[in-house]
Amino acid sequence: MKAAEIREKFLSFFESKGHTRVRASSLVPGNDPTLLFVNSGMVQFKDVFLGTDKRAYTRATTAQKSLRAGGKHNDLENVGYTARHHTFFEMLGNFSFGDYFKRDALKFAWELLTEVYKLPKDKLWATVYAEDDEAYDIWHKEIGLPADRIVRIGDNKGKRYASDNFWQMADTGPCGPCSEIFYDHGPEVAGGPPGSPEADGDRYIEIWNNVFMQFDMQPDGSLIPLPKPCVDTGMGLERLAAVLQHVHSNYEIDLFQALIKAAARETGCADLENNSLKVIADHIRATAFLVADGVIPSNEGRGYVQRRIVRRAIRHGYKLGCRKPFFHKLVPDLVAQMGEAYPEIAEQQQRIMDTLAAEEARFFETLEHGMSILDGALAGGVKTLDGEVAFKLHDTYGFPLDLTADVGRERGFTVDEAGFNAAMARQQEASRAAGKFKMDRALDYSGAATTFHGYDKLVIEGAKITALYVG
Ligand code: ATP
Ligand code: MG
Ligand code: MG
Ligand code: MG
Repeated sequence: MKAAEIREKFLSFFESKGHTRVRASSLVPGNDPTLLFVNSGMVQFKDVFLGTDKRAYTRATTAQKSLRAGGKHNDLENVGYTARHHTFFEMLGNFSFGDYFKRDALKFAWELLTEVYKLPKDKLWATVYAEDDEAYDIWHKEIGLPADRIVRIGDNKGKRYASDNFWQMADTGPCGPCSEIFYDHGPEVAGGPPGSPEADGDRYIEIWNNVFMQFDMQPDGSLIPLPKPCVDTGMGLERLAAVLQHVHSNYEIDLFQALIKAAARETGCADLENNSLKVIADHIRATAFLVADGVIPSNEGRGYVQRRIVRRAIRHGYKLGCRKPFFHKLVPDLVAQMGEAYPEIAEQQQRIMDTLAAEEARFFETLEHGMSILDGALAGGVKTLDGEVAFKLHDTYGFPLDLTADVGRERGFTVDEAGFNAAMARQQEASRAAGKFKMDRALDYSGAATTFHGYDKLVIEGAKITALYVG
């Protein structure tokens, strides 16, 4: 079953259960400072859950383009390292706004998985929030899932709400306990069942999360009940496609194979298993969809996340031998795969290509020289890259710190981030003293116009990027 058919079956199943099919929203959340990018299907309904917005329907279903490259849900560092994480992915969802709750949600999910998609029941597992006896009983007594395939997952390292089975959109906002459905890809794949120490592997893959939205988390961590209990679910289309296409990695599904082949064509890499091809295939989706939604590479906020993703992709192409722009040439292949479901990328194909090509041209001017500086600094088996060098690469050669760290992860060195931050701070001071500081200039790679408050914050707390830059 191809990805397009899987998507359609999901949406029409929920339509047959009284849900209104709603269009995906932009990747850029409308007027929500708590969130950098739309990271899940519920985001466009946030105010409906909170009770401050009303719709003509109480049941909805969507296929939502989602991006996890900053903020609370950030999978950028997972890309290329797990079989199941992308930066950009499609989340299939059904939503109840004060209509049905746990029982119907779990029963719909089971019916769709086992009767429509016809997944073998004995390969499915479920987790429930540790104290949620109600969800446990629905799975066990009503649906008939054996007790040895239901796992209670609760508090995580003493932090009650950091648990995998308590879902939050961001640090504040709608949240609640959840029940996740896992698929067992079989003993030939490494990994253990949910809740076990080996759960991080790719054998038991989480395919669907059913969130029982009940609270509005406040900045101090307290929970205010929502006006009515709601349901928010999300299933990764690519993960479900892997199951239905009998492959264990998301990168082996039809859509990704087409993009990996395109990346191989443009980079001249003959080995289709090469990890860099997967990263490039992932990143062309994220960056093309971001351009379509108005995010162009820049040095601030969302635009800087975009720049970091584009440059990471270019660096992977460089690793495969590319010395001139190649990345933008994958856009027509992406449009061929996804342009029908998402007309915005077909309509804007040329603009997307031009935008990416311009960023590539800019980075290729300095990439090669920067890489030779990096190689020089690492000569003799250096294990910690000097912070001054990392800063120079950032400042003069346009290497975002996470790009340098990405190289480090491949080659086994770490970056002295404290030294990087100190070099950054020193340069700011020097610029101020020299009177170069201008209030109205955005950060550029001379760094002259920005007060920088620590790069690791920028990477980890992406949602706060704009707050970090005080011109
Ligand atoms: P994981 O534990 O695997 O990181 P998650 O618990 O963070 O997933 P949720 O926030 O529950 O994911 O999102 C709902 C669903 O979206 C997941 O069950 C999964 O199918 C899909 N999903 C989540 N993150 C990604 C990603 N980075 N790439 C592809 N699909 C994803
Ligand atoms: Mg995750
Ligand atoms: Mg999870
Ligand atoms: Mg989950």
